[in-house]
Amino acid sequence: MRIVSVVRRELRIHDNPLWQGANEHEIVPLFVLDEFNQREHGDNLRTLFFFALNELRKQISSLGGHLYCIRTEQQEAFFATVKPDVVRFCEDHEPHSRERDSNLMRLLERIGIRYEVLRDSTLTPIPEQPFSTFTQFYKRHFLPTLQNNGLPHYPIPKHFKTPKIEFVETELPQVSSEAAKSWCIGEKEVLNRWRHYVRQHLANYEHTRNFLTETSSSRISPYIRCGLISLRQLCRDALDVSDAFVRELAWHDFYAHLLHHFPETTEQEWRLEWRRFRWRQDEKDFERWCQGQTGVPLVDAGMRQLQTEGWLPNRVRMVVASFLTKHLRIDWRWGERYFYCNLVDADLAQNVGNWQWVAGCGADAAPYFRIFNPILQAQKFDPQGEYIRKFVPELRKVPTEALFDLTKLRNCAPNYPTPMVDLEVARSEFQAEVKKHFGEKGLSQKGFD
Ligand SMILES: Cc1cc2nc3c(=O)[nH]c(=O)nc-3n(C[C@H](O)[C@H](O)[C@H](O)COP(=O)(O)OP(=O)(O)OC[C@H]3O[C@@H](n4cnc5c(N)ncnc54)[C@H](O)[C@@H]3O)c2cc1C
Repeated sequence: MRIVSVVRRELRIHDNPLWQGANEHEIVPLFVLDEFNQREHGDNLRTLFFFALNELRKQISSLGGHLYCIRTEQQEAFFATVKPDVVRFCEDHEPHSRERDSNLMRLLERIGIRYEVLRDSTLTPIPEQPFSTFTQFYKRHFLPTLQNNGLPHYPIPKHFKTPKIEFVETELPQVSSEAAKSWCIGEKEVLNRWRHYVRQHLANYEHTRNFLTETSSSRISPYIRCGLISLRQLCRDALDVSDAFVRELAWHDFYAHLLHHFPETTEQEWRLEWRRFRWRQDEKDFERWCQGQTGVPLVDAGMRQLQTEGWLPNRVRMVVASFLTKHLRIDWRWGERYFYCNLVDADLAQNVGNWQWVAGCGADAAPYFRIFNPILQAQKFDPQGEYIRKFVPELRKVPTEALFDLTKLRNCAPNYPTPMVDLEVARSEFQAEVKKHFGEKGLSQKGFD
């Protein structure tokens, strides 16, 4: 049998459903360059993505095969040349990807080629009915499905029997962003780092995950995004070691299922009652936030890490997002887009879901009065100020207690910006604005607790 396996975000050899049957059948690995994604994705994600794709191409060659690269409009001619018995690809829940897949399926039906849709980007199948709270999703869908279905493991192919095909391929884009370079490692190195994390740190994950040192969390998200590591492998390794880690992987599935059922939430608030909320659209304030010049140390450290490394820890993502949407009351969509264009792990479902969670307008979101205090958060999760000092050089010589006291900080660091808002005043203003929008009664009736 001849199988075309279309690679999207599963850029690895190990534990990959696309290579099932490679030892017996002719597999034709194929990558289709999608113009929409080229425009949408930022250079940090594209740098890691094309690095990983090139590495995969080399690995497939070393196993005797060849990964073909073509453009969308060449698909029909390619299938006509290859004449496969079946085309297989993995499902994806982003609105654009679903449209692309419908087009592909229509094309294959028209030219009479069978297709197979596989699953790789979530641990569990998307439930038919959506869940509006994470806890229900976790208890009623995620855990029982894992228990009943288990986690299949797909063996590494011994070799690829790719037939020789005469076809003019397309060049892959050359993208190289400084921030993403340190993330560019191959599949073997990703697995080695993960195994090291499992041995040394995973058992403590529940206690360390919110701290801001290098080993507090796994830093695996960019590799999940590009499929350099399999979610099933992560989950299998974590199942007997850390329930907290498995729960975070369940959040990943939860947000994929939300985007699948509510594709309009890339643009609109999931909670209907928030759709008319008056977010501010202040470009100057937004720019100060983007540049890490807010005068609030933990916020600036996070935004500058995003600029230099294309990544930041989950706790800091929550703090900077809360500062933007609640202290500055700026539209969450602006923050979401900025993150999406700059994160090396940028993932539409995860990004939109988390932004709406922080802003308070998403499914199972943080309540409107939960406003992260960036000073207390820094004191708790960066008690020695190492994280702040690493990314905000103006504050390197400042005594630790001044990092947690904005009045003292003004005297110790004359080159550092003064805070753009008074945290307490901004907090009260946001709460007042929410109450004005919903009315006191509306808030309690809609169960914002
Ligand atoms: C405003 C905001 C935007 C975000 N945007 C993205 C994004 O574009 N892409 C992305 O992958 N993650 C996003 N996240 C989720 C989370 O911050 C990252 O997945 C996490 O920081 C990755 O670091 P890690 O691999 O060390 O995570 P670990 O703590 O080691 O967790 C392991 C894995 O669990 C999953 N996970 C952990 N936390 C979350 C979460 N809050 N939501 C969903 N899955 C989670 C991730 O797959 C993560 O890699 C965002 C969070 C916030 C608050």
